[in-house]
Amino acid sequence: MAELIDGKAISQAIKDEVRNESAELEKKGIRPCLAVILCGNDPASTVYVSNKKKACEYCGFDSVSLELPEETTQEELLSKIRELNDDKKVNSILVQLPLPSHIDENAVIAAIAPEKDVDGFHAVSVGNLLIGRPGFVSCTPAGVIQLLKRSGVEMAGKECVVIGRSNIVGKPMAVLMLRENATVTVCHSKTKDLREVCKRADILIVAVGKPKMIDASYVKEGAVVIDVGIHRLEGKKLCGDVDFESVEPVASKITPVPGGVGPMTIAMLMKNCLEGCMRQNGLLNESDTAYIPGMRQEHR
Ligand code: NAD
Repeated sequence: MAELIDGKAISQAIKDEVRNESAELEKKGIRPCLAVILCGNDPASTVYVSNKKKACEYCGFDSVSLELPEETTQEELLSKIRELNDDKKVNSILVQLPLPSHIDENAVIAAIAPEKDVDGFHAVSVGNLLIGRPGFVSCTPAGVIQLLKRSGVEMAGKECVVIGRSNIVGKPMAVLMLRENATVTVCHSKTKDLREVCKRADILIVAVGKPKMIDASYVKEGAVVIDVGIHRLEGKKLCGDVDFESVEPVASKITPVPGGVGPMTIAMLMKNCLEGCMRQNGLLNESDTAYIPGMRQEHR
């Protein structure tokens, strides 16, 4: 039987740490502020934005939300982003994705000032991650690293297989595992013998976007399995990309869905907001490694 990695408890611990640090900032007269832009009325996005507002309140941050109609033009949205870039009271900017289809997401991400790019999607953030410089890291993969660290999973020297190569999960996930000195393989829709590649993994991270696709036949006995997927089945039950019932008896540790990776994303968003605010106020030293796992090591 695998040990469950409790994302609910770990995310709560992170939010509490952020809240404590934010209370220390408040004593210096500094209060982080996150601006969230929601464009259109996607029901899931509306829920996500409201959860982000609640998390800000919990952590002692200010939040501003801009709710723009579906028919907003790209230029109007870019102009709002430029206003927020120039607003000294706003430390972090997040544009809730997906955007209506007439808006180019890449252009919108590129318009956000990199020092306020709390989602870590801007090319500057991604580039900094790749070359090991301080900067924002995409929240979901950053959350997976925290789950592994806080569950005592050793990553250095381990075989890690990541399934998925999206810009927001798979690719940053692979870079972060490399930073932790794992030996990393990235699988995707064109990978041959996926099952055999996955069976090499000591740590298997699944972000394939297909409900319950990964069963025990993909998993080595004793592997740690992280399920990034999230799907709502008919009857509203949630499931991941991993077939939990099949894999759980084979794995040594596993994340459940719900209650695994899901709650980590918002916790890491709060951590990123705090970090951004501290950096903007000269309180986060470039060589301060507390927020940047693995930075102090030489990577050759
Ligand atoms: P995506 O659809 O952008 O990427 C899926 C990746 O899987 C692609 O790179 C593709 O090459 C690969 N893939 C698809 N079919 C494959 C196959 N048969 N074999 C091997 N590889 C295959 O998805 P994403 O945005 O990276 O998200 C992945 C999953 O994580 C989704 O289920 C999504 O809902 C979930 N997600 C969860 C959170 C969270 O907060 N927990 C955040 C983001 C995404």
